Amino acid sequence: MHKCLWRNLLKNNAINKLFTIAAITLGITACANSNVKNDVNTLPKNIIFMIGDGMGVAHTTSYRYFADDKATKEVERTVFDELLVGTSSTYPDDNTYVTDSAASATALSSGVKSYNGAIGVDVNKKPVLTLLERAKQLGKTTGIVSSSQINHATPASFIAHNESRRNYNQIADAYIDEKINYAPKVDLMLGGGTSYFIRKDRNIVNEFKSLGYSYVDDLTKLNELNTLPALGLFAPVGLPFAVDSDALPNRVEAMTKTALNLLATQSSDNGFFIMIEGSQIDWCAHGNDVACAMGELEDFAKAIEYAKQFTEENGETLLIITADHATGGLSIGANGTYDWKTDKVKQINSSLAVIIPAFLSLEKDVTDKVIQSTWKKHVDFDLSASQIETLKSALSSKLKKEKMTREIKAIINDTTLTGWTTGGHTAGDVQVFASGVNSHLFNGQQDNTDIAKKLFKQLNSAQ
Ligand SMILES: [Zn+2]
Repeated sequence: MHKCLWRNLLKNNAINKLFTIAAITLGITACANSNVKNDVNTLPKNIIFMIGDGMGVAHTTSYRYFADDKATKEVERTVFDELLVGTSSTYPDDNTYVTDSAASATALSSGVKSYNGAIGVDVNKKPVLTLLERAKQLGKTTGIVSSSQINHATPASFIAHNESRRNYNQIADAYIDEKINYAPKVDLMLGGGTSYFIRKDRNIVNEFKSLGYSYVDDLTKLNELNTLPALGLFAPVGLPFAVDSDALPNRVEAMTKTALNLLATQSSDNGFFIMIEGSQIDWCAHGNDVACAMGELEDFAKAIEYAKQFTEENGETLLIITADHATGGLSIGANGTYDWKTDKVKQINSSLAVIIPAFLSLEKDVTDKVIQSTWKKHVDFDLSASQIETLKSALSSKLKKEKMTREIKAIINDTTLTGWTTGGHTAGDVQVFASGVNSHLFNGQQDNTDIAKKLFKQLNSAQ
């Protein structure tokens, strides 16, 4: 930096024009070099790859306003704002622009575009090498964390190769059957999925244990995992939503802390590669459930904050964060009103997956008071008289489930001024965030396959 300062001083010195011109030339060269954060020959020892499933620009922006301290005039920057470096396109190789999580995760894990539903295979259903597999080949320690089942599309696309994301049992089998250097590909796995790993026909958890993996099945006992390899499965399928988890809402943060602490002390001399997924931002957005989405974003943001701190302190790590696609067509503001009611969003204490069944279980001819009290078990603002009438008529409707779902969503969306355009995915570019060694390589607009290609270079040249 002192060379830039020297250049500026010379620039202002009119005594010797020739000398100044020569110095400017030299100075500019020196400054251009100093702008490169890391020498190109320096490669990260460790890579932390975080994926917010379904996390579009509107999702991270809505979290900024949700997290805003209303006592201060400014809107505080979030960890997403601090780490933003670029954007990524997400379209699959499918004659369509809208990707699913499997095709996008395959692009992010392998650098190869594929069809929707593909798990680590190309359009011809041939297996493609993934970043996690390459890291393992190179003698790095490998890990995955997800709040979905660990054999769900995103983590699966880093570990397994299957023509369909729906072949959950086959994918779970691959986690132990497929080996690199005579060992399972992943040294550390934390998430949900006991119903796929402890089955009638096969107990994969016991098989992992017999290979020396330590195992826990209770999220509050994460700290009992103190050796690698390790496996933690905390739910039959996905973990409960953050908004519904009173005891430990920030499960991705908790798993991330355990994973990075274990990897910091126990990984091989060659470092580690870990993929950490905030899986359920997507699930909440599929349900057009704003409070649920905010809970997941908060948990994922906290996990990123920990990973950022780890990366800064460690000095040999590259942290890269992106999304596989956006979900729900989330709109911050709706119905022509110029406002978004974060205070109302914060008053919703349960997901729609809890609120809707609570109403469906009511008798047909309940009183207004029962409707209001059922609502108030989950939401801190009152229903109006007309909203109570609407829910009562939904209860006696022939299409009770559809009508109740529609009306409860409408009440929440109209009150909070939240808009959604779809129950599926959208094709808008997603953001790319990065920190640490060679993070500048991810600046600007890129394709999701480019992210993987750049990461392969960060791995491969390490040989
Ligand atoms: Zn999805």
